[in-house]
Amino acid sequence: MKFLDEYRDADAAQHYARAIVRMVTRPATIMEICGGQTHAIMRYGLPELLPPEVTLVHGPGCPVCVTPLELVDKAVEVAARPEVIFCSFGDMLRVPGSQGDLLSVKARGGDVRTVYSPIDALKLARAHPDKQVVFFAVGFETTAPANAMAAVQARQQGLRNFSMLVSHVLVPPAMHAILSSPHNRVQGFLAAGHVCAVMGYVEYEPIAQQYQVPIVVTGFEPLDLLQGIYRCLKQLEEGRVEVENAYPRFVRREGNLPAQATMRDVFRVIDRKWRGIGAIPQSGLGLKEQYAEFDAEQRFGVAHVTVEEPSECISGLILQGVKKPFDCPVFGTRCTPETPMGATMVSSEGACAAYYRYRELKDRAAH
Ligand code: SF4
Repeated sequence: MKFLDEYRDADAAQHYARAIVRMVTRPATIMEICGGQTHAIMRYGLPELLPPEVTLVHGPGCPVCVTPLELVDKAVEVAARPEVIFCSFGDMLRVPGSQGDLLSVKARGGDVRTVYSPIDALKLARAHPDKQVVFFAVGFETTAPANAMAAVQARQQGLRNFSMLVSHVLVPPAMHAILSSPHNRVQGFLAAGHVCAVMGYVEYEPIAQQYQVPIVVTGFEPLDLLQGIYRCLKQLEEGRVEVENAYPRFVRREGNLPAQATMRDVFRVIDRKWRGIGAIPQSGLGLKEQYAEFDAEQRFGVAHVTVEEPSECISGLILQGVKKPFDCPVFGTRCTPETPMGATMVSSEGACAAYYRYRELKDRAAH
């Protein structure tokens, strides 16, 4: 197939769905890791095509959702300073910290700007030498190479007014945390195709063997997802445990080696807190000592900020596949996309937002 529309073909989707129905003989719970996949699954109504034995649960792969509360509070504190231009991807602006969000800083006169890449932030730093430009570097392995490159370029260009508030997280440690939990119900994973385009899937092979779970590298279109689900279920039915690549148009086993090298040059692996989940050892990236001059936490003295998560939001359990958004007592009542109480309702990739949005669309279509 060459064109995007072909990956959304309804007849082909029905064909896959029928093949899944014919094949499945036992219950299976599969987790897609990426929030983009969660949204596509809900948008195209894929759970309704699957037999009742198959349960899809939604993983921690939405970067906005897992950025810890205290990092949001640090961002709010830095962004409120008069000398700062604070740059962030749009979704992060509405994520509630314990003392408000970045949009409320902007409403109070703070210079908070939406950017589409770290290169935009570098341009701002060059254009405003009298200001401190801070980039909120969130995301998984997908965005880490570009953010690492921004630090490299800032050094090459001698930019002393540029820094990054780094909140990068890594997928494999989160998979370990989910699979080793006593509450784990995940029997197979759809690995995120874009992360694997950077990192490859060599690092998933020992995870599959250690926990005896199939892992299928999967894309983001409906047919990609149905194929990933089909191949994962097929392994479970046949008692096989392998890492399979169902996204070969973008992913090679070894990944993008130059991108990985850039990440390794700039970042080191550190312990990281995940919102709603807590600390996961060796699950994040921080700037290496050689790049510490670009560390906004050090530059603005906010490294000490710590905050406890509110107890009412169960997004941590949702992100581990233990609960679904409908299990949250405030889902769709006190917590909606207009009044989000947790990050999984704020982000366009969050599981709660996906359930709310596509449930509402279905309800409207039914009346
Ligand atoms: S519905 Fe809101 S409060 Fe409940 S888990 Fe989702 S984000 Fe948290």
